[in-house]
Amino acid sequence: MPKFEYAPAPESRAIVSLRESYGLFIDGEFGPGVDGRVFKTISPATEEVLAEVTEAGPADVDRAVTAARKAYEHTWSQLPGRERAKYLFRIARIVQERARELAVLESLDNGKPIRESRDVDIPLVAAHFFYHAGWADKLEYAGYGPAPRPLGVAGQVIPWNFPLLMLAWKIAPALACGNTVVLKPAETTPLTALTFAEICQQADLPPGVVNIVTGAGETGRALVEHPGIDKVAFTGSTEVGREIARACASSRKKVTLELGGKAANIVFEDAPVDQAIEGIVNGIFFNQGHVCCAGSRLLVQESVYPEVIASLQRRLATLRLGDPLDKNTDVGAINSAAQLAKIRELSEVGEAEGAQRWSPPCELPVKGFWFPPTVFTGVSQAHRIAREEVFGPVLSVLTFRTPAEALEKANNSPYGLSAGVWTEKGSLILWMATRLRAGVVWANTFNKFDPTSPFGGYKESGYGREGGRHGLEAYLDV
Ligand code: NAD
Repeated sequence: MPKFEYAPAPESRAIVSLRESYGLFIDGEFGPGVDGRVFKTISPATEEVLAEVTEAGPADVDRAVTAARKAYEHTWSQLPGRERAKYLFRIARIVQERARELAVLESLDNGKPIRESRDVDIPLVAAHFFYHAGWADKLEYAGYGPAPRPLGVAGQVIPWNFPLLMLAWKIAPALACGNTVVLKPAETTPLTALTFAEICQQADLPPGVVNIVTGAGETGRALVEHPGIDKVAFTGSTEVGREIARACASSRKKVTLELGGKAANIVFEDAPVDQAIEGIVNGIFFNQGHVCCAGSRLLVQESVYPEVIASLQRRLATLRLGDPLDKNTDVGAINSAAQLAKIRELSEVGEAEGAQRWSPPCELPVKGFWFPPTVFTGVSQAHRIAREEVFGPVLSVLTFRTPAEALEKANNSPYGLSAGVWTEKGSLILWMATRLRAGVVWANTFNKFDPTSPFGGYKESGYGREGGRHGLEAYLDV
């Protein structure tokens, strides 16, 4: 099927005013780091340097934790829930007002298509603040006792795939429950978190309630190991999650970990195929597959396998890869050179292990980090591409004959974050959903998020839940 020719439709960058350099946001103000170290953040689509960002060392992390402790003791924990709610509502409204700017900035720094940052990431950020604003004065009805208490200071570390949305998942419930925070964004995507710091100033949030420290793994380590924090919330790789769990094991810190995944997206023979194809595409090619709950293992019932693969290939040939700021773009840039190298390596392993690799005809831009949508067929359970998280636009396809076999294969993974089931039979959906070892099970849809719905994993996908009433528990002393 030929691609329609669309004229370029780039979203204007003019709405974003980038500073040349950004300081750390501590105690309500931006300032330099103690030892003067900086790093650069680039656009992964063009490799253009966007800004210089401060690398926080242990002394800066210590200043941030001290500010958060002071704000916790003297201000934030003293405010009644209805007063905290006002600030959260205000933040939510400012996020909405600045939505276009935030979406453009997110696409610039992360490489994701503007269509996604504009229609998914930023609206969900606002929704998370609105939702948790609603909880702030109703915590006694959340099921955690008549007067649930906050924990204190939360140290939060987030990844680069949904930079501002992961910040919202962390900061909104923490603040609603009465905690103060020190958050470290990922080193490749710090800019929306720093703009969020400006939003905190704009909302007149008391100084020290939110502190943003930028830097890489060492900064993250200094934060999670700081003796002055009461709670660690981490989203990222299972490897780093393990390290954090070990580091916190001998402390009193409460820990939640949201880690990797290798979700099975299971298509039964009675599924509406066209709808399932859209779900498969959304499941693995949304956000270039940089999604912890991505449907990266497609399990197709043998009887419909030829039809599903043919339709999938036809649909993938229509995807547009390119400029993240173009409103017609479906697939943007890979977030970093390091991530691109990892995706390339695992794809080569897939071929070497005997799976068949296919990509639609697709021209890759010369500059920047790019990888075409890729499908591996003939994948067996033992292949590394069926077991390890690629965290890129790479789908591994396996087949099954019976529901029991589908279940067996789906659960045969060290991870357990999410799963998808496609069938017209309600009873089969329920049968599968109660047996799948996955924190989220989508039926006849995929990658749908809502602040009211708890999200989290089984097994090596981590522990604790974020979102919904269940997510409040992570920030309360219960
Ligand atoms: P990563 O673990 O390398 O980095 C995540 C964050 O941790 C970054 O901010 C990084 O600077 C920081 N960090 C690195 N080493 C650290 C250390 N020793 N101590 C403290 N902090 C440290 O992961 P990544 O490559 O940025 O993100 C991709 C991974 O995140 C994938 O595996 C993905 O599945 C996972 N992820 C999970 C979820 C979820 O909700 N479960 C959501 C998004 C991403």
